[in-house]
Amino acid sequence: MENVIIIGTGCAGWTAAIYTARANLNPLVLAGEQPGGQLTTTTEVENFPGFPEGIQGPELMMNMQKQAEKFGTRVEYDLVSSVKKENEGHFTLETQGGTTHQAKAVIVATGAIPRYLGLENEMSLVGHGVTSCATCDGAFYPDVPVAVIGGGDSACEEADFLTKFASRVYLVHRRDELRASKIMADRVLGNEKIEPVWDSEVKEYLTDDEGEVRAVTLLNNKTNESSELEVKCVFVAIGHDPATGFLDGSGVALDDEKYIIQNGHDTKSNIEGLFSAGDVSDHVYRQAITAAGNGCQAALDAERYLAAL
Ligand code: NAP
Repeated sequence: MENVIIIGTGCAGWTAAIYTARANLNPLVLAGEQPGGQLTTTTEVENFPGFPEGIQGPELMMNMQKQAEKFGTRVEYDLVSSVKKENEGHFTLETQGGTTHQAKAVIVATGAIPRYLGLENEMSLVGHGVTSCATCDGAFYPDVPVAVIGGGDSACEEADFLTKFASRVYLVHRRDELRASKIMADRVLGNEKIEPVWDSEVKEYLTDDEGEVRAVTLLNNKTNESSELEVKCVFVAIGHDPATGFLDGSGVALDDEKYIIQNGHDTKSNIEGLFSAGDVSDHVYRQAITAAGNGCQAALDAERYLAAL
């Protein structure tokens, strides 16, 4: 029987692992679909305290993992498919790989998954000119026009990053004002390689003979006019959905958007012994540092829970 199993390896998961490992709880971490979490798909992180020159997202995550492992954290790369609280008080976790784990406490830190537009041929075009990750795919589109969809910090960050490769970056947003923080918005709007396309929605992906994206059909939602924008790749950056599907049937209380509901000022869920941390519970702050802080809180809450058992 494990003391504590931490599900997820983003900022929240690794921070929870560092704290529970240092508390001699010998945590087991089960990695999710995106080991390292969302920061592995980002580039420069400029706002994580302690790195005045910034740090690359993947490097920050590798450092966190090393720090957690240094104190004895064990890691298994297997997706959790279900979590169940047993009458005896412990939890049973099943994985897609067919393993069963038992633990006295669980910290869910599975984060959130990028959203797509929901257009008909969209998912079949992922990897053929549709993606949600500029860091992963930007370099595949040198000297050609590309589009980023969205108006938040993610869209701005991706647009800015893509100017290193693309000949032109269209920032397609459904309104005429960016949601992004002022510093990111100013950076993007001041970059002459980035062209905002306001009040516009992608209605269709158009492909060439090889099945690769060659253009998108846009609808201007103010004028109702349709147009075609020639781009070789579309980077969708319109937010995320929390990774809580595996909790179906677990009894863990989720809100309308499927985020785990935390118990007000701490990280307890409605099920005693199950805690959550980071973006899986947070649709307000969603920062690397807030996720890390929340991971620390969940570790301390779990530690107290285990001490009281
Ligand atoms: P977000 O702030 O929720 O922005 C999503 C954007 O996508 C919005 O502009 C939204 O339009 C648009 N959108 C949503 N659904 C759409 C749809 N179906 N079709 C077209 N457009 C759609 O998400 P985010 O940019 O991923 O950021 C999430 C959080 O992480 C934020 O708190 C952000 O500050 C933070 N973040 C921080 C950094 C950083 O500090 N380095 C980097 C990335 C993200 P509307 O504006 O019209 O709603």
